[in-house]
Amino acid sequence: MDKNGSLYVVATPIGNLEDITLRAIKILKEVDLIAAEDTRHTLKLLNHLNISKPLISYHRHSEESREDTIIHKLENGENVALVSDAGTPGICDPGEILIKKCIEKQINVIPIPGACAFVNALIASGLDTKEFIFLGFLPMQKKLRKNKLEEIKKSQKTILLYEAPHKLKKTLIELKEIISDRKIVIARELTKIHEEFLRENINELINISDSLKGEFVIIIEGNKQDIEKNEIKTEEELYEFYLSQGFSKKEIIKKIAKDKNVTKNEIYIKFLNK
Ligand code: SAM
Repeated sequence: MDKNGSLYVVATPIGNLEDITLRAIKILKEVDLIAAEDTRHTLKLLNHLNISKPLISYHRHSEESREDTIIHKLENGENVALVSDAGTPGICDPGEILIKKCIEKQINVIPIPGACAFVNALIASGLDTKEFIFLGFLPMQKKLRKNKLEEIKKSQKTILLYEAPHKLKKTLIELKEIISDRKIVIARELTKIHEEFLRENINELINISDSLKGEFVIIIEGNKQDIEKNEIKTEEELYEFYLSQGFSKKEIIKKIAKDKNVTKNEIYIKFLNK
């Protein structure tokens, strides 16, 4: 028989305290210990739910040192719930390291589903939900950030980003450079009183960004132009496609030469009379 306890990864609300499942409440009541990103924050939720439990802090800076204590308790048969300040642990929140370690030690990890900001932003965004990529927060380090922006530029799938309020404007200005006229939506203050979905164009979003308060998810439409372009096979079709996009003849010749990996002169001669 397995003498280990289980680690329950429990999602908590992202604003509205009613967004917690019956199962999550049951688990929080039943476990021996709750490992929380910020014990004071979680205490408020527990008080609201009338639950009294021992708490241990498990935040970003203590992740590696605290995991040994938690693993030890799990190995002694205690059941532990892991929660973060908001939403799903492990999603831009601590959890990953502890969960990997539990799996290494053959400790059962059980997800308890619930709120997650990017999932809710996506489903109400009005953008394609079939395929998407979630990139979390863009890295601050220059080279890594440039690579991620390049990924966004090329992605044909819907892209989701988290962003802090004081960095929103900078990020939107950088996005403007790479997404041209692709749609962009900002999901603000999800599940809270001031929840809103801003579906303006990017210039308008940049203009109002200084006045926006709260928490944000940025959702960006996939790069449809490249899909359309890839579907087009012949040089003539490419010419018409770029023309419809408003490019000049000179620009079109350059683009087709690049797409088809031939010299500009070859294309120039072909479309001399256009
Ligand atoms: N674990 C959380 C989850 O499951 O979504 C994410 C935690 S991460 C540290 C915090 C970021 O998530 C915020 O900066 C914001 O981008 C996004 N976020 C969290 N709650 C939100 C909300 N109510 N509305 C919009 N975005 C939110």
